[in-house]
Amino acid sequence: MGDSILELKDLSHSYDGSEISLKNISLIVNKAEKVSVLGPSGSGKSTLLRVIAGLEKPYSGTITIQGKIVSDQDHMVAPEKRNVGLVVQNKALFPHLTVEKNIGFGIRKNQEKTKIIADLLSLFKIEHLSNKYPHEISGGEQQRTAIARSMAPGPELLMLDEPFSALDRELKEELYAELIHIFNERQQTIILVTHDLDEAKVLSNKQINLENT
Ligand code: ADP
Ligand code: MG
Repeated sequence: MGDSILELKDLSHSYDGSEISLKNISLIVNKAEKVSVLGPSGSGKSTLLRVIAGLEKPYSGTITIQGKIVSDQDHMVAPEKRNVGLVVQNKALFPHLTVEKNIGFGIRKNQEKTKIIADLLSLFKIEHLSNKYPHEISGGEQQRTAIARSMAPGPELLMLDEPFSALDRELKEELYAELIHIFNERQQTIILVTHDLDEAKVLSNKQINLENT
Protein backbone atom coordinates (compact mmCIF):
# COMPACT_ATOMS: atom_id res chain seq x y z
CA MET A 1 0.00 0.00 0.00
CA GLY A 2 2.52 2.61 1.13
CA ASP A 3 1.60 6.03 -0.16
CA SER A 4 -1.22 4.98 -2.44
CA ILE A 5 -3.92 7.59 -2.87
CA LEU A 6 -6.22 5.57 -5.11
CA GLU A 7 -6.67 1.85 -5.66
CA LEU A 8 -9.13 0.40 -8.14
CA LYS A 9 -9.74 -3.33 -8.14
CA ASP A 10 -11.67 -5.05 -10.94
CA LEU A 11 -13.85 -2.00 -11.41
CA SER A 12 -16.74 -2.40 -13.87
CA HIS A 13 -19.63 -0.14 -14.77
CA SER A 14 -22.73 -0.27 -16.95
CA TYR A 15 -25.23 2.52 -17.55
CA ASP A 16 -28.13 0.25 -18.43
CA GLY A 17 -27.21 -3.14 -16.99
CA SER A 18 -26.41 -4.72 -20.36
CA GLU A 19 -23.80 -2.66 -22.23
CA ILE A 20 -20.47 -2.47 -20.44
CA SER A 21 -18.96 1.02 -20.17
CA LEU A 22 -15.98 -0.02 -18.01
CA LYS A 23 -14.55 -3.49 -17.75
CA ASN A 24 -12.34 -4.82 -14.94
CA ILE A 25 -10.15 -1.79 -14.39
CA SER A 26 -7.40 -2.22 -11.80
CA LEU A 27 -5.05 0.64 -11.01
CA ILE A 28 -2.92 2.02 -8.20
CA VAL A 29 -2.09 5.73 -8.08
CA ASN A 30 0.50 6.85 -5.55
CA LYS A 31 0.92 10.22 -3.86
CA ALA A 32 2.03 12.98 -6.30
CA GLU A 33 1.82 10.59 -9.23
CA LYS A 34 0.32 11.86 -12.49
CA VAL A 35 -1.60 9.32 -14.54
CA SER A 36 -3.11 9.86 -17.98
CA VAL A 37 -6.10 7.89 -19.19
CA LEU A 38 -6.10 7.45 -22.95
CA GLY A 39 -8.48 5.62 -25.28
CA PRO A 40 -10.86 6.13 -28.18
CA SER A 41 -14.11 8.02 -27.87
CA GLY A 42 -16.67 5.91 -26.00
CA SER A 43 -14.08 3.75 -24.25
CA GLY A 44 -15.23 4.86 -20.81
CA LYS A 45 -12.68 7.54 -19.87
CA SER A 46 -15.26 10.01 -18.54
CA THR A 47 -17.21 7.19 -16.92
CA LEU A 48 -14.08 6.10 -15.05
CA LEU A 49 -13.61 9.58 -13.57
CA ARG A 50 -17.31 9.84 -12.69
CA VAL A 51 -17.22 6.47 -10.95
CA ILE A 52 -14.11 7.44 -8.94
CA ALA A 53 -15.75 10.77 -8.03
CA GLY A 54 -18.85 8.94 -6.80
CA LEU A 55 -21.18 10.38 -9.43
CA GLU A 56 -21.83 6.90 -10.86
CA LYS A 57 -22.22 3.64 -9.00
CA PRO A 58 -19.98 0.82 -10.22
CA TYR A 59 -21.47 -2.48 -11.27
CA SER A 60 -18.71 -4.34 -9.43
CA GLY A 61 -15.25 -3.86 -7.99
CA THR A 62 -13.66 -1.81 -5.23
CA ILE A 63 -12.49 1.80 -4.99
CA THR A 64 -10.15 2.71 -2.13
CA ILE A 65 -9.10 6.30 -1.51
CA GLN A 66 -6.36 7.01 1.05
CA GLY A 67 -6.75 3.54 2.51
CA LYS A 68 -10.51 3.79 2.96
CA ILE A 69 -13.00 1.84 0.86
CA VAL A 70 -15.37 4.38 -0.70
CA SER A 71 -17.11 2.00 -3.06
CA ASP A 72 -17.79 -1.71 -3.12
CA GLN A 73 -20.84 -3.94 -2.76
CA ASP A 74 -21.51 -2.59 0.74
CA HIS A 75 -20.25 1.00 0.51
CA MET A 76 -21.10 4.07 -1.55
CA VAL A 77 -19.48 7.14 0.00
CA ALA A 78 -20.95 10.47 -1.21
CA PRO A 79 -18.90 12.50 -3.72
CA GLU A 80 -18.21 15.38 -1.31
CA LYS A 81 -16.74 12.96 1.23
CA ARG A 82 -14.20 11.40 -1.14
CA ASN A 83 -11.60 14.17 -1.11
CA VAL A 84 -11.41 14.25 -4.91
CA GLY A 85 -11.85 17.08 -7.39
CA LEU A 86 -13.11 16.80 -10.96
CA VAL A 87 -12.61 19.36 -13.72
CA VAL A 88 -14.66 18.88 -16.87
CA GLN A 89 -14.38 20.89 -20.04
CA ASN A 90 -17.94 22.02 -20.57
CA LYS A 91 -19.34 22.43 -17.10
CA ALA A 92 -17.00 25.33 -16.53
CA LEU A 93 -17.46 28.30 -14.20
CA PHE A 94 -20.47 29.82 -12.47
CA PRO A 95 -21.30 32.75 -14.78
CA HIS A 96 -22.79 34.93 -12.03
CA LEU A 97 -19.75 34.67 -9.74
CA THR A 98 -16.42 36.50 -10.02
CA VAL A 99 -13.15 34.60 -10.43
CA GLU A 100 -12.48 34.98 -6.72
CA LYS A 101 -15.96 33.76 -5.72
CA ASN A 102 -15.74 30.87 -8.16
CA ILE A 103 -12.49 29.74 -6.56
CA GLY A 104 -13.94 30.14 -3.07
CA PHE A 105 -17.16 28.31 -3.85
CA GLY A 106 -16.22 24.81 -2.65
CA ILE A 107 -14.07 25.78 0.31
CA ARG A 108 -15.35 24.33 3.55
CA LYS A 109 -16.30 26.71 6.34
CA ASN A 110 -13.54 25.70 8.70
CA GLN A 111 -10.82 26.36 6.15
CA GLU A 112 -8.89 29.61 5.79
CA LYS A 113 -10.86 30.81 2.82
CA THR A 114 -9.15 34.16 2.20
CA LYS A 115 -5.65 32.69 2.31
CA ILE A 116 -6.52 29.71 0.14
CA ILE A 117 -8.04 31.97 -2.52
CA ALA A 118 -5.08 34.40 -2.41
CA ASP A 119 -2.57 31.54 -2.74
CA LEU A 120 -4.38 30.04 -5.73
CA LEU A 121 -4.83 33.41 -7.47
CA SER A 122 -1.09 33.88 -7.15
CA LEU A 123 -0.14 30.32 -8.10
CA PHE A 124 -2.26 30.49 -11.27
CA LYS A 125 -1.16 34.09 -12.01
CA ILE A 126 -4.71 35.41 -12.09
CA GLU A 127 -4.63 37.92 -9.19
CA HIS A 128 -5.52 40.76 -11.57
CA LEU A 129 -8.69 38.92 -12.61
CA SER A 130 -10.10 38.29 -9.15
CA ASN A 131 -13.10 40.61 -9.56
CA LYS A 132 -13.86 39.75 -13.18
CA TYR A 133 -16.72 37.55 -14.32
CA PRO A 134 -16.12 34.48 -16.49
CA HIS A 135 -17.39 36.15 -19.68
CA GLU A 136 -14.85 38.96 -19.19
CA ILE A 137 -11.80 36.68 -19.29
CA SER A 138 -10.17 34.50 -21.99
CA GLY A 139 -10.59 30.75 -22.48
CA GLY A 140 -7.16 30.04 -21.02
CA GLU A 141 -7.90 32.24 -18.02
CA GLN A 142 -11.24 30.48 -17.54
CA GLN A 143 -9.48 27.13 -17.54
CA ARG A 144 -6.90 28.30 -15.01
CA THR A 145 -9.77 29.50 -12.81
CA ALA A 146 -11.63 26.21 -13.17
CA ILE A 147 -8.58 24.20 -12.12
CA ALA A 148 -7.86 26.60 -9.25
CA ARG A 149 -11.46 26.24 -8.10
CA SER A 150 -11.24 22.46 -8.03
CA MET A 151 -7.98 22.61 -6.06
CA ALA A 152 -9.35 25.09 -3.49
CA PRO A 153 -10.86 22.53 -1.08
CA GLY A 154 -7.51 20.68 -1.16
CA PRO A 155 -8.55 17.41 -2.81
CA GLU A 156 -6.02 14.63 -2.39
CA LEU A 157 -6.79 13.48 -5.93
CA LEU A 158 -7.50 15.91 -8.76
CA MET A 159 -9.07 14.54 -11.94
CA LEU A 160 -9.19 16.45 -15.21
CA ASP A 161 -11.44 15.36 -18.08
CA GLU A 162 -10.02 16.66 -21.38
CA PRO A 163 -9.53 20.08 -19.82
CA PHE A 164 -7.64 21.63 -22.72
CA SER A 165 -9.62 20.46 -25.72
CA ALA A 166 -11.15 23.91 -26.34
CA LEU A 167 -7.80 25.73 -26.28
CA ASP A 168 -5.45 26.42 -29.17
CA ARG A 169 -2.05 24.79 -29.34
CA GLU A 170 0.04 27.73 -28.18
CA LEU A 171 -2.16 28.36 -25.17
CA LYS A 172 -2.13 24.66 -24.29
CA GLU A 173 1.65 24.51 -24.26
CA GLU A 174 1.87 27.57 -22.04
CA LEU A 175 -0.65 26.01 -19.63
CA TYR A 176 1.17 22.65 -19.60
CA ALA A 177 4.35 24.28 -18.34
CA GLU A 178 2.50 26.18 -15.64
CA LEU A 179 0.51 23.18 -14.52
CA ILE A 180 3.54 20.93 -14.27
CA HIS A 181 5.08 23.51 -11.98
CA ILE A 182 1.91 23.93 -9.90
CA PHE A 183 1.21 20.20 -9.53
CA ASN A 184 4.82 19.47 -8.58
CA GLU A 185 4.92 22.28 -6.07
CA ARG A 186 1.72 21.05 -4.43
CA GLN A 187 2.61 17.34 -4.70
CA GLN A 188 -0.81 17.07 -6.30
CA THR A 189 -1.94 13.60 -7.36
CA ILE A 190 -3.50 13.78 -10.83
CA ILE A 191 -5.58 11.69 -13.19
CA LEU A 192 -5.83 13.34 -16.61
CA VAL A 193 -8.14 12.15 -19.38
CA THR A 194 -6.91 13.08 -22.82
CA HIS A 195 -7.00 11.72 -26.35
CA ASP A 196 -3.69 13.43 -27.09
CA LEU A 197 -0.69 11.15 -26.55
CA ASP A 198 1.76 14.07 -26.61
CA GLU A 199 -0.23 15.85 -23.92
CA ALA A 200 -0.26 12.65 -21.86
CA LYS A 201 3.51 12.28 -22.18
CA VAL A 202 4.18 15.88 -21.18
CA LEU A 203 1.81 15.99 -18.21
CA SER A 204 1.97 12.50 -16.74
CA ASN A 205 4.47 9.86 -15.72
CA LYS A 206 2.16 6.89 -16.24
CA GLN A 207 -0.40 6.16 -18.95
CA ILE A 208 -3.28 3.71 -19.04
CA ASN A 209 -5.23 2.88 -22.14
CA LEU A 210 -8.91 1.94 -22.22
CA GLU A 211 -10.15 -0.13 -25.13
CA ASN A 212 -13.57 -0.08 -26.67
CA THR A 213 -15.53 -3.03 -25.29
P1 ADP B 1 -15.26 8.51 -23.30
O1 ADP B 1 -15.20 9.56 -22.24
O2 ADP B 1 -14.05 7.61 -23.32
O3 ADP B 1 -15.54 9.05 -24.64
P2 ADP B 1 -17.72 7.69 -21.93
O4 ADP B 1 -17.28 7.32 -20.57
O5 ADP B 1 -18.34 9.03 -22.10
O6 ADP B 1 -16.48 7.52 -22.93
O7 ADP B 1 -18.74 6.62 -22.47
C1 ADP B 1 -18.53 5.21 -22.35
C2 ADP B 1 -19.74 4.49 -22.89
O8 ADP B 1 -20.87 4.75 -22.08
C3 ADP B 1 -20.13 4.91 -24.31
O9 ADP B 1 -20.63 3.78 -24.97
C4 ADP B 1 -21.24 5.93 -24.07
O10 ADP B 1 -22.13 5.96 -25.16
C5 ADP B 1 -21.92 5.38 -22.82
N1 ADP B 1 -22.50 6.45 -22.00
C6 ADP B 1 -21.84 7.56 -21.53
N2 ADP B 1 -22.65 8.30 -20.75
C7 ADP B 1 -23.87 7.65 -20.72
C8 ADP B 1 -25.13 7.92 -20.06
N3 ADP B 1 -25.29 9.00 -19.30
N4 ADP B 1 -26.12 7.02 -20.24
C9 ADP B 1 -25.93 5.92 -21.00
N5 ADP B 1 -24.78 5.61 -21.64
C10 ADP B 1 -23.75 6.46 -21.50
MG1 MG C 1 -15.28 11.65 -22.32
